[in-house]
This record gives sequence, structure tokens and C-alpha cells, in this order.
Amino acid sequence: MRPLIAGNWKMNGLSSALAQIEALKRGLAAAPARADVLICPPFTLIADAVRAAGGAFAIGGQDCRAQASGAFTGDISAEMLKDAGASAVILGHSERRQYHGESSAQISAKAEAAWRAGLIAIICIGEKESERNEGREFSVCSDQLQGSVPQGATPANTAIAYEPIWAIGTGKTATAGDIAAMHAHIRSGLIEELGDEGAGLRILYGGSVKPDNAAEILGTAEVGGALVGGASLQAADFLKIIASAP
Ligand code: PEP
Repeated sequence: MRPLIAGNWKMNGLSSALAQIEALKRGLAAAPARADVLICPPFTLIADAVRAAGGAFAIGGQDCRAQASGAFTGDISAEMLKDAGASAVILGHSERRQYHGESSAQISAKAEAAWRAGLIAIICIGEKESERNEGREFSVCSDQLQGSVPQGATPANTAIAYEPIWAIGTGKTATAGDIAAMHAHIRSGLIEELGDEGAGLRILYGGSVKPDNAAEILGTAEVGGALVGGASLQAADFLKIIASAP
């Protein structure tokens, strides 16, 4: 499968940020990507971003609720994302787990909701620095993987994003050796859980991916793409990361 380079804008971007979507579109027209490209802006920009991207790359959400509709003030369903033109949704980002207390069981239900609506679920897992220091990174990620990825996951409907929490927004990245070891561990967990389907799911790396480290990270064994926060906000930086895909 082609790598997937996904940008997570988090809670950043007013309508003026649509200029970055237009710049990304121009950049990809000039230098076609060897990767699938996705931008996940805030909910408020999704429909306009879909129009501005004009099909040149995909637009996604950053979360959804498991239910399709109902009395859930402030929440957004997978069906609403789809209706706005999204084709994917990030689920279980560590900031959702941390600030909204999301459990792996909730994330699993959200993944099923994403599939119900026809969205690709990008399910995030990753350990805290203290857990790595205690030598528990593999067991923490296994637990999150088993709890968050429902049966029925296929390479077409799901990608996994391994994001060590201590590397998100900090400028620290895991070493290529650490990334290769964790991605191999995730791959064997996926095969154990999903059988043959687990062999094909893309496993993205996330955590301070920047233009100057993207080539090494994307060239690492079992890395099927990147989930990029800060460096996805400026099209010029994001285009350099996209161009680093093997
Ligand atoms: C993220 O938000 O998923 C992320 C990886 O952020 P950053 O690239 O800024 O570390």
C-alpha cells in the first residue's frame, strides 16, 4: 500500500488557514505525491477544506462520537463528518485520551462508527515517557491495540498511528531503532488479532515528524506513513514531508 501522510491540525485554524489547503493543492499539482495525503482540520473547516482541496487530497476529522445522532451536545458523529465530505477520522489521539478521558473501549466503538459511515479510522496508540522508562512500552501499546481496534479492521478501513506521547509536540523523536522495534511489535499484534488482514494495515509513526527527519522515519521498516501535527500547519513544511515518502 502507498504510505499515508496525515496532518492533524488539532485546535488550530481559522478560515484564513484555508490558504494552506490551497497551497498544498498547488504543491501536489506541481509534484505529485507518492503517498496518500490527508489533512484533518478542526470540524469548522472540514466542508470548506473539502471544497478547497478539490479532490487533490483527502480531508478528515479529529474525533467522532460512536452514536449516529442524538442528545449529545457538542459532539459530532461519523455520519456528520462523512456528510461534510470527510473520508477519514483520527481516533484515540493521546490528547483525547488525556483531556477527555477516552478509554480504549470507547475508541473501539468510535472505530465501528467510522466504518458504519464509510470513513477510514486512524486509531492512535502510544506510551507515556514514564511507561517507557519503566520498560512497559510494549505492553502498554499491546493493551491499547487490543482494546481499541475492533474485529473487522482491514487495510482499507483502518490505519494505526503509533505516537509515543513524549514525542508529540516536544521536538523529541524516537530513534529509528525504537520505531522499528515498536512497529514490528504492533505488526505481530495486528496479525495475532486480525489474521491476514493485520498484515496489511498501515502503521503510521507520529511524534515531531519534521521535514528534516521525515526521510529517515518514513524509510524505517514497517513504517507505513506519518501522522504529523505542528509541521502540517504550513503547506511548505508538509509538502517537504510528503516528498520524503519512499
Ligand atoms: C500529533 O498531534 O499527532 C503529533 C504527532 O504532533 P507533532 O507532530 O506536533 O508532534
